[in-house]
Amino acid sequence: MDELQSFLGGRWVRGSGPVQTLVNPATEQPLATTCTAGLDFAEAMRSARAAGATLRAMTFVERGQAIRALSRALHGAREQLIALAVENGGNTRSDAKFDVDGAIGTLAAYADLAVELGERRFLVDGDGVQLGKGARLYGQHLWVPREGVAVHVNAFNFPAWGFAEKAAVALLAGMPVVVKPATSTALVAARMMELFVEAAALPPNAISLIAGAPGDLLGHLTGQDVLAFTGGSATGVALRAGKAALAHSVRVNVEADSLNAAVLAPDVEQGSDVLNLFLGDVVRDLTQKAGQKCTAIRRVYVPREQVDHVLGLLGERLAAIKVGDPARDDVTMGPLATGEQRADVKAGIARLASCARVAFGGGSVEPLGVPGDKGFFVGPTLYFSPEPRAGDAVHEHEVFGPVATVMPYDGGAAMAAALVRAGGGGLVSSVYGDDKQFLKDFVLGIAPYHGRVTIGSSKIAAQALPPGMVLPGLVHGGPGRAGGGEELGGRRGLAFYSQRVALQGDRALLEAIAAS
Ligand code: NAP
Repeated sequence: MDELQSFLGGRWVRGSGPVQTLVNPATEQPLATTCTAGLDFAEAMRSARAAGATLRAMTFVERGQAIRALSRALHGAREQLIALAVENGGNTRSDAKFDVDGAIGTLAAYADLAVELGERRFLVDGDGVQLGKGARLYGQHLWVPREGVAVHVNAFNFPAWGFAEKAAVALLAGMPVVVKPATSTALVAARMMELFVEAAALPPNAISLIAGAPGDLLGHLTGQDVLAFTGGSATGVALRAGKAALAHSVRVNVEADSLNAAVLAPDVEQGSDVLNLFLGDVVRDLTQKAGQKCTAIRRVYVPREQVDHVLGLLGERLAAIKVGDPARDDVTMGPLATGEQRADVKAGIARLASCARVAFGGGSVEPLGVPGDKGFFVGPTLYFSPEPRAGDAVHEHEVFGPVATVMPYDGGAAMAAALVRAGGGGLVSSVYGDDKQFLKDFVLGIAPYHGRVTIGSSKIAAQALPPGMVLPGLVHGGPGRAGGGEELGGRRGLAFYSQRVALQGDRALLEAIAAS
């Protein structure tokens, strides 16, 4: 069995003490152990901080070259990373590709952005402003790299993409990274770290990895450090309220739960491309990664007169899903990542029964290719809630598994938007239709509550990207329940890792500084 190691201070190290065991969630077979007890996180943070000087001395182009080398290193080991995600993450091959290719692509996208940013070391923020009556007294904002460490605490569901998307942005901004992947699925992230070390593209200590419990790591945050967290809301609240984070005003980004919605507009006709797009997105989000995607559609709103038709079509598609050991080619949905996850999802399914009835599935399933009662499986489950209201379970609790609820709406865009807003803030919601007035009213009605809104109309039905796909060029994050964070969005993502500073003084001097 493998023994995972952490990479700290430029060395592979392991703790000594009780171990945590990583398993194959389809078979429950142990795969690896890990232990971080006794590791010196204070020293690890100091070494990482010291690496910042070398990174900041590099231009965006140079940082981008290093980031591209990381992307290539992952690409070179793509099949191996996919196999690890299947084994340790319960991913089908298709799920694993979504994660691994997302990691490779996001690193490549930030390497491309680096070329655009050019041979500079910091960014100028907008135009300067004249401050006095004459032209000489002037103001100019800059974005300069923060001189600390970017600590990244990631969720279990995207071990590859989660690592890469955060690291790409921090490194391009000029900050070294300490990444702590979720322990249960850390095999992929640990292999990525090995590949990054072998690639030797970055200055020493520019990336460190903690393979397991974070110990006192967050107690060593100081005022130039940042903390970016992805995971459950309760953990997000605890991390935000950490003593060191509060004492040093550490900048914290939280990506948490989200009750993402899909809304079918009243003008969508039976058999149309737009209806097909909508159905495909709902079923994909329910089953891809067994519904363990922060962006997955949890709530489905349909005009009341179309509910029966839509429930029938979704049921037909879900009946074709084959649940089982994701190592098998014929399986289209794997298990949940851990036994704890399965218990949470089952509790969530039971909670939804307070406001909805089962329209398909219900959770029980006989997985293909799994002996005995092994594996953390839950079957795809569709609920129907006939009279949805703000405050009921479907609007309050994220069930992080293969579960969604269909609900009717009456009264047009305003009513649909009110129901979507009842989710308390989300990462992404989607709407499907061609009625321009409906789409405009609906989109503007939910926009303040979302980080992203996707619109599926007949003109783009053939080339639409799934709402659950996070794109490096668009922001990812959302207000309220979703954590209030914001990542990616091309160069927008660099802001989190940079300090905006306003300079005021003689215009010629400021222009010379900005051009340096
Ligand atoms: P989690 O239990 O909150 O864990 C997330 C990460 O936090 C893990 O790396 C975990 O480490 C670490 N952690 C837990 N307690 C900690 C502490 N006291 N100090 C430092 N680190 C700590 O969440 P999860 O179960 O992995 O992920 C599922 C949740 O993540 C879902 O609710 C989902 O909505 C959310 N999510 C959100 C997004 C997004 O982009 N908004 C993306 C993916 C997932 P260990 O694994 O070692 O415990």
